Amino acid sequence: MLPGHIGMRRRLHEGPFANVKLASGCDRRCTFCAIPSFRGSFVSRRPTDILNEVRWLVDQGVLEINLVSENSTSYGKDLGDLRLLESLLPEIADTGLERVRVAYLQPAEMRPDLIRVIGATVGVAPYFDLSFQHASAAVLRRMRRFGSAQDFLSLLEQIRAVNPRAGVRSNFIIGFPGETAADFQILLDFLEQAQLDAVGLFTYSPEEGTEAAGFTDEVDPQEMALRFDTASTLVEELMSQRAEDRIGETVRVITVIGRNQFQGPEDGGTRLTTPADAEVVVARVVASEGADLVAEMTHV
Ligand code: SF4
Repeated sequence: MLPGHIGMRRRLHEGPFANVKLASGCDRRCTFCAIPSFRGSFVSRRPTDILNEVRWLVDQGVLEINLVSENSTSYGKDLGDLRLLESLLPEIADTGLERVRVAYLQPAEMRPDLIRVIGATVGVAPYFDLSFQHASAAVLRRMRRFGSAQDFLSLLEQIRAVNPRAGVRSNFIIGFPGETAADFQILLDFLEQAQLDAVGLFTYSPEEGTEAAGFTDEVDPQEMALRFDTASTLVEELMSQRAEDRIGETVRVITVIGRNQFQGPEDGGTRLTTPADAEVVVARVVASEGADLVAEMTHV
């Protein structure tokens, strides 16, 4: 039984990893997204409920917790404290788990204190799951999002000033209505400069009921497929390069899930050169295989 008044939670999967919900809904209105129409406004869970759930999971043997929501940077705004994530993360990190990770950070809502807490708190994974979606300011505006390639590069600079080894993942939509060849080139140039550890690419497809579904300047499907192939080839190369750059680094690997602190659940993994008995080991990265790392245990 889970303590507090959040009711019962039965774990669907045993193992050292669990998602914990931070909030539900979204107050943003990205033109391609239907989520706000069916999930409603952003509602944060109370910090005490989240902490109780985390403590219960830690008692069940969970080592890594992934905090999920539609937009984790907004956590606390409906509770009157927009900096609640900055205070909650260290408390979660203090519950005895190996690490807590935050999913779905909005680039436009990132702030220096949050970068510091995620980048430099023991027990918080120095990992930034930033949903950029594009890098061309014109396309971003049509998506009703903010920023530009320059803004995003300077955000990455701020993150790496706090922790040069921080992991960064992002998703991008290729072929959003109105995306010109020049916009696409801006995206490719950005990807080359951003040195992201993990990248998810998607071709645009309209979702019923969204504003963008009414946009008429669609990108020709063949052109979209071509752009997707070009971006995918580039991203594969860049992710391999980024993994190669990590050779020589020391990482903490949760052995059952084969993941270190810089890698998220959907990213490349870390394979140990020899099997380990311990749940968490310290290891040195000795090779890379595409986006995956190979590491040699140094100690438990
Ligand atoms: S893409 Fe994310 S931030 Fe934008 S409306 Fe959808 S859930 Fe909200």
